[in-house]
Amino acid sequence: MSDKRTMLIVAGDGIGPEVMSEVLRVIEWLDKRLGIPFDVKQGLVGGASIDAKGTPLSDETMALALEVDAVLLGAVGGPRWDSLPFEKKPERGLLRLRKDMALFANLRPAPVFDALVDASPLKPEIVRGLDIVIVRELTGGVYFGEPRGIETLPGGGRRGVNTQVYTTDEIRRIARVGFELAAKRSGRVCSVEKSNVMESGLLWRQEVQALHDADFAHIELSHMYADNCAMQLIRDPRQFDVIVTDNLFGDMLSDEAAMLTGSLGMLPSASLGEADAKGRRRALYEPVHGSAPDIAGRGVANPLASLLSFAMCLRWSFNLTEEAALIEAAVTGVLGGGLRTADIMQPGKARVSTRVMGESVVRELDKLIS
Ligand code: NAD
Repeated sequence: MSDKRTMLIVAGDGIGPEVMSEVLRVIEWLDKRLGIPFDVKQGLVGGASIDAKGTPLSDETMALALEVDAVLLGAVGGPRWDSLPFEKKPERGLLRLRKDMALFANLRPAPVFDALVDASPLKPEIVRGLDIVIVRELTGGVYFGEPRGIETLPGGGRRGVNTQVYTTDEIRRIARVGFELAAKRSGRVCSVEKSNVMESGLLWRQEVQALHDADFAHIELSHMYADNCAMQLIRDPRQFDVIVTDNLFGDMLSDEAAMLTGSLGMLPSASLGEADAKGRRRALYEPVHGSAPDIAGRGVANPLASLLSFAMCLRWSFNLTEEAALIEAAVTGVLGGGLRTADIMQPGKARVSTRVMGESVVRELDKLIS
């Protein structure tokens, strides 16, 4: 990694620019207080790009995204652009970023902060201390497999077809991400599929096990059927650390895990590409939430999911593990001190704006290093 850490920020639409302003505040803090500078470029994506350039993602911005060490995204979309044809919608900008950067691994942590344990729809004793990550395969499986389509049958009825398909390489590269992640955490991976009824699931199980035995024998590996995993996530979610699974099951299980926390405005995510010769991966970091048009422009959005996404960026793209932990500790501290944006407001706590939440995180960072 060169000394020059390059980042592209595409704030997007709705609350995207509001929450990304608070990320910029922390980036500035890292430079001023810890002497860790970033070369930050900014670009347009989604509706903002449609308005300015007539396309949800320009070729220049795409080229920049491929050049930098990491991309940080706010959110895209909003009612203003809802009537556009599918190919021109804001979401196409995000899809192009994911596709052209070949981001095959989606990491979705679901942390439950002690201070927010009551926000979960589950009982506090089930979710207190929860800290799991779902690693979802993002570019293969049934969403992309061929043949696919809807055909009309001779009798006039119709048949819809999608194909679940995975190769050795696709399975091993996502499993590798899961094992590497687990090595930085508590060292446990649960691989999830339906090998009891699907051949692709059987191959998945065999390949994950083979990679484990060859390269990651020090990691504890278990296997679970996806339906059981869905149930276990509600029954006893803390049994998991890292869950590795395919595109379809990951889509569902990561949303289920998100709901365990009960706080959409708190959830970060990372999407990673193939490692290059130096072990560096293309990467896009974004909050799980959307552009929240219902609250956009009012300065009340919760910036913590974006700040936690930036912490993931420090850890994965820049190997700044301590600094990532510092930001996470600052978020924990601010919540522990009783500050809340409207979406996570609780009785007896202090309701603050997006900006005050960001400033408070920076103040907490100052305290943590003093
Ligand atoms: P949403 O996540 O934007 O909002 C759902 C609800 O959660 C809203 O009530 C919103 O006010 C609230 N919320 C979300 N993030 C918040 C935050 N940080 N702080 C406080 N409250 C927050 O989902 P939606 O309403 O279904 O979608 C709105 C738009 O966002 C749509 O155009 C959709 O396509 C787009 N979207 C984009 C992404 C993305 O950019 N990755 C993801 C999901 C939805």
